[in-house]
Amino acid sequence: MPKLAVGLLVILLIALLWLLQDNEKEDQRATLIADVLWLEQSFRFHLESNTEQLQQLSLDLARSEDSDQLFDTRARHLMKTSPELAHLAWLDYSGVTRAALPSHISPRQGATPSRERMEDSSELARKLGKPVFSHPYPAQGETFFELHVPVYRGDQLTGMLVASHSLNGMIGQLVPWWFVEKYQLQIVDDEGSILASKSKLNAGATTLSHQVLLDPPGYGLALKAMANRVASSTAQNLIITLIIFLAAAVFWSLWVMRGLMQHRLAAEQALRAEHAFRKAMEDSLTVGMRARDREGRITYVNPAFCEMTGFDAGELIGALPPYPYWNPEELNRTRELHDKVLDGLAPEEGFELRFRRKNGDFFDALVYEAPLIDSNGTHTGWMGSVLDITERKQAEELARQQEEKLQATSRLVTMGEMASTLAHELNQPLAAISSYNTGCMNKLDSGKFTPDELRGAMEKLGVQAQRAGKIIRRVHDFVRKSEPKLAECDLAEVVDDAIGFIEHLAQKRNVRIGREIPGWRQPLLADQVMIEQVLLNLMRNAIEAMSDTEPDRRRLTVRVTQHEGQIEVRVIDNGSGIADAVKERLFTPFFSTKPNGMGMGLNICRSIIEFHKGRLWVEANPEGGTIFVFTLPLGSAEP
Ligand code: ADP
Repeated sequence: MPKLAVGLLVILLIALLWLLQDNEKEDQRATLIADVLWLEQSFRFHLESNTEQLQQLSLDLARSEDSDQLFDTRARHLMKTSPELAHLAWLDYSGVTRAALPSHISPRQGATPSRERMEDSSELARKLGKPVFSHPYPAQGETFFELHVPVYRGDQLTGMLVASHSLNGMIGQLVPWWFVEKYQLQIVDDEGSILASKSKLNAGATTLSHQVLLDPPGYGLALKAMANRVASSTAQNLIITLIIFLAAAVFWSLWVMRGLMQHRLAAEQALRAEHAFRKAMEDSLTVGMRARDREGRITYVNPAFCEMTGFDAGELIGALPPYPYWNPEELNRTRELHDKVLDGLAPEEGFELRFRRKNGDFFDALVYEAPLIDSNGTHTGWMGSVLDITERKQAEELARQQEEKLQATSRLVTMGEMASTLAHELNQPLAAISSYNTGCMNKLDSGKFTPDELRGAMEKLGVQAQRAGKIIRRVHDFVRKSEPKLAECDLAEVVDDAIGFIEHLAQKRNVRIGREIPGWRQPLLADQVMIEQVLLNLMRNAIEAMSDTEPDRRRLTVRVTQHEGQIEVRVIDNGSGIADAVKERLFTPFFSTKPNGMGMGLNICRSIIEFHKGRLWVEANPEGGTIFVFTLPLGSAEP
């Protein structure tokens, strides 16, 4: 539609200009016709007036006494008032010139070919007895025509007055100056040849013409005027040019506008699509989003955040701290963190907070904050993403508890497997106690004893009972279920305890145990029972791995070294070594190559070491076998 309207406007504009031009042309044509008619009339009047004057002269000549004098006077007067009269002659009856002005030589004398036609007009005038105009004829380089007026005395024709009119003279004298300024003027004959002309215009440039018959003298003579077509004025041209230019400018600007509109529409469409996309994304998010300005006023919350906290967007937007979902019991800490965020000091890795839902329930949230920058690059506030990690925390707690239970179970299993070792170990003090007891009884029965002897035996018995008690306590300590407790401990003691447990098994399998522990040791902050469990596991695996090794090469070494900030323990065996395929899965739960293996040992060891912020890995022993290495940080107060 707009394109059609613009096209129509341009067409109408062109039509209007054309109409204006046409009107002007019509006006000019009408003026031209009127002017030519006026000129023709003026010619006619003039010739009629000449005719009348000559007729009067002819009458007067007939009456006059001194006709020659009269002719001379009147002819002179006539020629003065009508300068187009080139020659005036008075011929007698036989056609001989009686008198003539300005001389006896008539222009006709140079025009021989037309003489006969002249005679015809003269004859006609004689016959009709009234003035007759002759054919035009060329002479002296121009064109003339004659007026023949018969002279009668009474009823008798006595002569003829012949007035030769010059066409050039007529045009020269009778056409006003303004006519010549406007038009190219010509007198043409019936064949269209130009007999006389006058103009200041260039004939070639004329396009408009009109002609009327000139009668008198008649004979097909015509007056023709030509004008330049619509000589538009400079102002008019300027206005037309301006109109065309402005129309073009309007058209161009409309075109540009159209382009802009299309551009804008496309941009709006893209924006709408983007908005819809963002909305869908926002609605599908399970992460709560919350924006705040730099004063801490909430400016935006997404549906997930509302669902998380139980508050409507209307209740949250515009709220200032303390926000309704803050935990009243942790108000100070929350406020502190909030201030930190507004100061731009929020921890990049996020922070954990406990929030309260509208219904009073609590949930753990992990919050990340990022600055909000608007399109001008101004920092307008903060955008926070909030993750509900309650379930994750519960799962972590559950996993931790299960891990603990597993460790305890594993310790029980270890203990069960070592029941024979323990029985053997307990057997020694118990046998000693029994034999001391029997000795004492025998002494008492014999009656020969000194209290000192008895005391000595009883003391030894006590020592053995303490040893047995210690073994029982160690077992009890080892299998007791408790939360991990970090305390300062001496690694040498832990290693010795573990060796104490495993010693019997090692003896049974012909394995020698070596311990390489430096004399001076930094105290270690660890859970003794847990580290003992790790050592026991590694040592038992090592002993079992050496079952195919030649008995005199079966050697298990526990080497402790201290490095910068950490202690390193290596459990070295000369066993079967570990194949690459096995190595990859070594620490995965329930992976075992042993027929009765549970496959949990190394997995538990790794989690214990990692709990202590240390590392556990395996290396191949260059002398054949395997080295399990674990490190523990020294001096770290909190794991
Ligand atoms: P389990 O002893 O019950 O099999 P572990 O997790 O303690 O479970 O050990 C997993 C596997 O790792 C063992 O079955 C064994 O194949 C391999 N392994 C552990 N320690 C050694 C070692 N010192 N030498 C060779 N293989 C070992």
